[in-house]
Amino acid sequence: MDFLGFAGSKDVVLLDGAVGTELEKRGLPAGGQANLVCPEAVRQIHREFAECGCDALTTNTLTMNRAYIDTHKVGVDVGEVNRAGVELAGSAAAAGVYILGDLSSTGQLLEPYGPCTEQQCYDALAEQARVLADAGVDALIVETMFDLREALCALSACKNAGALPVIISMAFKTADRGGRTFMGDLAADCARLLTDAGADAVGTNCGGLPRGDTARIVAAMRSATPLPIAAQPNAGAPRLADGTTVFDIDPEGFAAEIRRCIDAGATLVGGCCGVSPAHIGAVAEHLRGPSV
Ligand SMILES: [Zn+2]
Repeated sequence: MDFLGFAGSKDVVLLDGAVGTELEKRGLPAGGQANLVCPEAVRQIHREFAECGCDALTTNTLTMNRAYIDTHKVGVDVGEVNRAGVELAGSAAAAGVYILGDLSSTGQLLEPYGPCTEQQCYDALAEQARVLADAGVDALIVETMFDLREALCALSACKNAGALPVIISMAFKTADRGGRTFMGDLAADCARLLTDAGADAVGTNCGGLPRGDTARIVAAMRSATPLPIAAQPNAGAPRLADGTTVFDIDPEGFAAEIRRCIDAGATLVGGCCGVSPAHIGAVAEHLRGPSV
């Protein structure tokens, strides 16, 4: 069954948490370059999420597009780092577990706010999407997008990379005033325009939202699209303590956060920054419980 068919057949699909913040906890580089620098650590983190009973694992390839790699001087080959990401997630997944190829922003604002043209954005994401598709992922997920215009560009790049389902997930700065991304896009507008442009699922992840607010974004999106909605909040708003970034929501609190997202209409759930295997394990436990 393809990923869309599977998602349609289940009340709730359990995605994983964040590989990046788990790598950071171990003192390792958090980006996609970890796939090449410390592959066994990445594989181990994927395994820990898989052991929670996740239905899908997400590749550690978030910003591994040519535009981001070049401007941030990451020093890795686009093809190599993305293929490694697919191999690592795939090797940790049991039979029947889907692999989602992860993409995100170029890391530069689009013109006129920044230097990136829509064509440059499209080209960079199309190249990455093709590598992920050729490496055998089951779907593409574009995460942490804070500009609807760039998200639409990413959607078209992913759609043209093959016949894979595409999930587009936006990061919000606030759930007030209808929910706004960092670029000021309304949650309902994101859901509606991405739906009209051919997304297979929309959603929200990461961002600067406090406890309870991801569910408000989900509700705003729910009112604007019939598509499946993904919710992958952080384990609370990130905060600096003694020079390290900490997240305040514990596994039980996170399971409650996900419950609120499901009640608001999300059917694909997982976590972003600070969401560990323990958090996803608590969600899995909750989903097995009598209340679902
Ligand atoms: Zn995040």
